[in-house]
Amino acid sequence: QNRQPGIEARMDPAPEYIKSSYTGSGKLQNKVALITGGDSGIGRAVSVHYAREGADIAIVYFNEDTDANETKTLIETEGRKCLLLKGDVKKAAFCKKAVAATVEKYGKLNILVNNAGMQFPQKDPKSIDEQQLENTFRTNIFAYFHFANEALEYLQEGDCIINTTSVTAYRSSPNLIDYSSTKGAITSFTRSLATNLTDKKIRVNAVAPGPVWTPLIVATFDEEKIKSFGSETAMKRAGQPSEVAPAYVFLAADDASFITGQVIHVNGGEVVNG
Ligand code: NAD
Repeated sequence: QNRQPGIEARMDPAPEYIKSSYTGSGKLQNKVALITGGDSGIGRAVSVHYAREGADIAIVYFNEDTDANETKTLIETEGRKCLLLKGDVKKAAFCKKAVAATVEKYGKLNILVNNAGMQFPQKDPKSIDEQQLENTFRTNIFAYFHFANEALEYLQEGDCIINTTSVTAYRSSPNLIDYSSTKGAITSFTRSLATNLTDKKIRVNAVAPGPVWTPLIVATFDEEKIKSFGSETAMKRAGQPSEVAPAYVFLAADDASFITGQVIHVNGGEVVNG
């Protein structure tokens, strides 16, 4: 993932990871959550919300350590533990190691959040070469399979998996053809895995964010797209990570005990077709 120095400074508005009004009420007390891409953007917001709700966190990340260390500090400020696991989710062996390391540290795993993702916007589908196709699919969908399979060695009745899909799975995305294909796959994966796991009483759901101010956006879109980012939503703005993360709390908590195989759309009222 190409990230440029000072990327946070180029975001207007700057990302907000948790609202000061979000007090938390112990909804995830004594839970252990593994969050891929939990160092940055939406994943960072989920990590911090889960910590405020009482969970200990393991974060899988790929980029420079600055983001991960900052997120770790935010989690420890909430009085919770944070394990940092640096590696490439495109590698099945790393996914296995990351899940095992989480259970080794905390003795269990209750919540898997498959969230790490990448995109390379393109003007022309012919510019998507084999390598890009492979990277996009390995990061955005193969890794979700690998983490889910490894986590299922440890998840028990009442535990859950939450996958990050995207509004691009539900509307035409002409400049994100490979990316939106993987996001569509995540939606189907969520539904099928959920049904497969009902006997084990493990719930599987997804969150489909619309446009959200995160480093991914500034790193991958051009100036023109950034200027109009979010304008297509009914609310005429992009959202903040702090406005998306509460959906992940809801789905992980006992409040969602009768919800599985579903997608929650958090997108400022963007029109979806699915
Ligand atoms: P982000 O760049 O801030 O965070 C993504 C994180 O994923 C990275 O920081 C990195 O640590 C991790 N990652 C990427 N490739 C990895 C790899 N190969 N191995 C290990 N970790 C890797 O971006 P974000 O916007 O917070 O994206 C989080 C998720 O939300 C992604 O799945 C993205 O597709 C999805 N999403 C984002 C938006 C948006 O507008 N920001 C909208 C819809 C969906």
